[in-house]
Amino acid sequence: MHKISPKHPRYNSLVLREKMAEAYQEGILADTALIAHGRGEAFDYILGEKTSPAALEAIRTGISAMLLADNPVISVNGNTAVLTAEYIVELSHLIPAPIEINLFYRTPERVKKMEKLLKNAGATEVLGKEGDDHVPIPGLEGPRSRAHPEGAHRADVVLVPLEDGDRAQALVSSGKKVITIDLNPLSRTAQTSSITIVDNVVRAIPLMVQEVKKLKRYPQKQLKEIVDEFDNTKNIAKSLNSISNYFKQDE
Ligand code: ATP
Ligand code: MG
Repeated sequence: MHKISPKHPRYNSLVLREKMAEAYQEGILADTALIAHGRGEAFDYILGEKTSPAALEAIRTGISAMLLADNPVISVNGNTAVLTAEYIVELSHLIPAPIEINLFYRTPERVKKMEKLLKNAGATEVLGKEGDDHVPIPGLEGPRSRAHPEGAHRADVVLVPLEDGDRAQALVSSGKKVITIDLNPLSRTAQTSSITIVDNVVRAIPLMVQEVKKLKRYPQKQLKEIVDEFDNTKNIAKSLNSISNYFKQDE
């Protein structure tokens, strides 16, 4: 690990980069995961590397939808696990919702390493392990189509931070409410999901943990109102506005 000075203007971003590079060396992440992270970094830069009011609204709505769900699930990819495992596990206990492994480049070794990472972070049960039962999601092929019978398959609400556009679309088409976290408000995932949180997972997931502690005490009626009042297209437009304001240096 290189020594990064905390005075460096991109300190936080560089710490995350080191974390990702190490996880790649350890074989948890594929090389393409690092490229995806880089695309995220670029969008985070033009969002001012902070959670916008629009993202906060989407976070509140996402948590409300998960609390109202009959069968919520948290579908986790490599980048999310490496960056936020402890918070994912806390969120999973608080909602409560099972965690399912969802790897784009799925290999038995990577699945085992992810399971270990999540268990070390406190997860008691993880779905989508090697050898677990799975049912295909209609419209997808190969390992990307896997859904655990007790997880994504039967879920009515799926939280999928950093999902791929095709899979997000297939999940929405199969009638599920899809909550995503994606720094790019223009990606297909952001555009097709039901609730899009345009923020970095390293900020959004800890905020989701904070929100669930508050919203858990709300009556169902109030949670329903939060979900009903939310308009994802308008919310994404607000995030795009934050980006254009950043360029104008208005903020
Ligand atoms: P899509 O398949 O949805 O059209 P894409 O193909 O452009 O998206 P991918 O390469 O599939 O993008 O996935 C990378 C996505 O994840 C990018 O949109 C990027 O902004 C986002 N991303 C990367 N790192 C983070 C992070 N730490 N937090 C939130 N989003 C991130
Ligand atoms: Mg993609």
